[in-house]
Amino acid sequence: MTQSPPEKSGTTTEGQDGRGAALPLLPTRELVLFPKMVAPIFVGRERSISAIEAAFGAQTPLILCAQREAGVEDPTFEDLRPVGVRARVLQLFKLPDGSIKALVEGGERVRAERLVAREPHFVVEYARVASSDAGSARSRGLARRVTDEFVRYVQLHPQLADEAQFVVQQAGGPDDLADIVAAHLQIEAGEKQALLEIESTQQRLTALLESLAEENAVLGIEQEIGLKVQQRIEGAQRQLLLHEKLRVLRDEIEEAGAEADEDIAGYAERAAAKQLSPAARKLVTRELAKLKQAPPMSPEVAVIRGFLDTALELPWGELAPAEVDISKAARHLDETHYGLKDVKDRILEYLAVCRLRADAAKARGEAADQPATILCLAGPPGTGKSSVAQSIAEALGRPFVRVALGGVRDEAEIRGHRRTYIGAMPGRIVDGLARAGVDNPVMLLDEIDKLDGDWRGDPSAALMEVLDPAHNHAFRDNYLEAEYDLSRVFFIATANDTDAIPDTLYDRLEVLRLSGYTLPEKLAIARRHLLPRVARDTGLGRRDVAFTRGTLQAIVRGYTREAGVRELERALRRIDRKVARRHLEDGLALPVAVAAGELRGYLGEAHWLESALPRRARVGETLGLAYTSDGGEVLTIEATIARGRGELVLTGQLGEVMQESAAAAWGYLLSQVERNAALKPLIARSPFLTGEGLDLASQDIRVHVPEGAVPKDGPSAGLALAVAMLSALGAVPLRPRVAMTGEITLGGRILRVGGLKEKLLAAGRSGVRTVVLPEANRASVAELPAEITAKIHLVHVSSLIEALPHVVAARSGASSA
Ligand code: ADP
Repeated sequence: MTQSPPEKSGTTTEGQDGRGAALPLLPTRELVLFPKMVAPIFVGRERSISAIEAAFGAQTPLILCAQREAGVEDPTFEDLRPVGVRARVLQLFKLPDGSIKALVEGGERVRAERLVAREPHFVVEYARVASSDAGSARSRGLARRVTDEFVRYVQLHPQLADEAQFVVQQAGGPDDLADIVAAHLQIEAGEKQALLEIESTQQRLTALLESLAEENAVLGIEQEIGLKVQQRIEGAQRQLLLHEKLRVLRDEIEEAGAEADEDIAGYAERAAAKQLSPAARKLVTRELAKLKQAPPMSPEVAVIRGFLDTALELPWGELAPAEVDISKAARHLDETHYGLKDVKDRILEYLAVCRLRADAAKARGEAADQPATILCLAGPPGTGKSSVAQSIAEALGRPFVRVALGGVRDEAEIRGHRRTYIGAMPGRIVDGLARAGVDNPVMLLDEIDKLDGDWRGDPSAALMEVLDPAHNHAFRDNYLEAEYDLSRVFFIATANDTDAIPDTLYDRLEVLRLSGYTLPEKLAIARRHLLPRVARDTGLGRRDVAFTRGTLQAIVRGYTREAGVRELERALRRIDRKVARRHLEDGLALPVAVAAGELRGYLGEAHWLESALPRRARVGETLGLAYTSDGGEVLTIEATIARGRGELVLTGQLGEVMQESAAAAWGYLLSQVERNAALKPLIARSPFLTGEGLDLASQDIRVHVPEGAVPKDGPSAGLALAVAMLSALGAVPLRPRVAMTGEITLGGRILRVGGLKEKLLAAGRSGVRTVVLPEANRASVAELPAEITAKIHLVHVSSLIEALPHVVAARSGASSA
């Protein structure tokens, strides 16, 4: 029967100095037990049975020491190795013949020092064997190597289950590891004992490493021999099978071989027709040789062919006729794009420079290259950046290719992947050239502000190299492995937000700004460009669908809210498609006039209603104007005062700068509102006014800018924030449809802001009547086209106080909703 130890654990027989009281000792013949190792043990000798029973009965540990000679039947104390382990008896099982099978668990290493009693079993005094230098860096290094070798050992050893490699993960340190690994080694007892006895951890690990290396070498050879033998046995059977397969394969290969020869001849012909650089020619020749050698159906063939296709698709010096005719370009830009006078002027100046440089280079007998700066068209979406670039290409008579850079994070997307990668490809620049078919196309680098570097490298650094005239004649694509000349490419970049372009890149750019269009401009663009194009694309005649000015205006106002004309173009397309279908299905007679009142039938409910802006005076609610990469936007700003702890609470995804300006606005109000003669009357009816002044200790001022999905930032909402807060504080209603923009200082002064054109356009689109803006912006506003400012009442102020008469509603007509 199996017995478990009596419930009495946790007792220790060891003194403070690591020296133990006397314990029973059990001599072992073959077993060398290591700390933490659990092993079965068979006990037959009388003295040993007595020792293990005594320990098990008294629930004390016992000492296990190996005999020097396994064959000695009745060992004396001197016949034992002094170093063993203190062990616990976990289970004890009496066999019918009186012998015992027990399960023991090794504790720490000990040295049996003095024999205390011989009968009925050995009792010894012992001391702990402390391991030295376990914590040293060298021990940890050795431990790592032992772990690696051990894992290999487990994998090679036929009798060890693969799981055994994970036991090393339980090691608490180098010394622990030495014990665990030694316990698992399938070596002789004598060797194990030697490993148990070494005190220094470093030496123990070194010895283990030696054992492991030796074992691994032997195991490796055994495995190899085993494999060979197995192969030889299987060989005979396989030969038969292979023979048959080979015959089939040979037939297939012969067929494929004929094709491959044709293939190679085709490539060679294409290579001969191209003006490859010497380096590229060498590469192509090398790959062709490889292709000849490679078995026709091997995966390598696909890789080689991919490379040859790419390399031979590149233009290698082929050029489109590169005449720059300025007046022709001017005409073409005017034909394709309405307005944009400044942008067109600067493009033509740039082209003129290109022309002169080309002429001068020609006179010197050199090849013309690009000017050191690259044009960058910057502005909100849909304002014509890509189409202007395309128009430049048309005017110059060069092919146009667009390379999208938005979201490119990996340098390899610009520079290509090395061919050693599976699925490797050339970078986008080289790919663009292959698509263009000439070395001097107009290449649009679209959205360079959306490049995004991370651990895979910095794509903007790679792009710098592409654009740098000092380097780009020898651009190296990783896939191509050869240098390629980019110096004749006419690069044009686009960006929504120039602030997001890395500085080094920005320095190379000549930025041309396209801002949003006014309503009259949109109508003109629709009439001259969008409508004819949309009609043509839909298969309708130029005059088949007629739009009145009122209809177009209603589309812009009700169905779009954008700086550019992309949504407008989409809406016109939808209308034309519906007309085309009704014409064919229901026999609708053409031409047809689309009236403003019929738009619902074509486009559904209008998305934007002008009445969206409140028309009544409200407390704590103002309108701010924001400038975003999508154009301008009108923001509603709400301030309320609610129970709290005297704090300023901001919600609605406000950026750091906006939070700071809210704090500045609140700071100014708190310091001035009870002292300043212009402000004081406004808090006369404040609910927070007590006999001793304003009491805000148990109130929070909360500011919210709704439509939280759009992150908002910048200092220009300061004025609007201050006005909203003041209104909430004094419970004074504000005039509706008044928007404001201006940075506020702690002293209440209003500072100049940027992006006024976009802001005023947005105000106009949203139905704002009055805009309060900084005095310091007066000059910049005066430069704006009259139609932007015509319908809005502009009020310039230099302080918050000056703004008050224009924003606070007259008491009588106010509702305090
Ligand atoms: P972006 O590249 O700035 O996002 P696009 O070039 O794609 O804008 O322009 C969107 C559409 O509006 C295109 O069809 C373009 O031709 C048209 N468009 C934009 N601005 C003008 C303009 N000034 N004149 C004529 N068409 C324009």
